[in-house]
Amino acid sequence: MDSRRKNIIKSSVSSSIEKLLNQSRTAYSDGNLTRSIRYVRMAFELLKKHKVKLPAELKNSFCRKCCLIWIPDKTLKIKFDTKNNCLRVVCNCGYSKRL
Ligand SMILES: [Zn+2]
Repeated sequence: MDSRRKNIIKSSVSSSIEKLLNQSRTAYSDGNLTRSIRYVRMAFELLKKHKVKLPAELKNSFCRKCCLIWIPDKTLKIKFDTKNNCLRVVCNCGYSKRL
């Protein structure tokens, strides 16, 4: 496969991931948590399969552990980590990540 073709595939994969995450957010605000998690899981599967690099705002928009979409003040908390002098996001499931 030539690199141009690969790039086309990668860019279409990342736009599908973006769409899935948007749908997940909509599903969450509609109160449909199961559907929201399913969308994130699909996006995550695509991500693992194609090994695409996502922009930071997409990478930090869902939990890798419980596949929950991250919505500030709803599904995640942002804390200042004084020990490491950085911001840290904490998911509802307890998973935390440095920003
Ligand atoms: Zn989580």
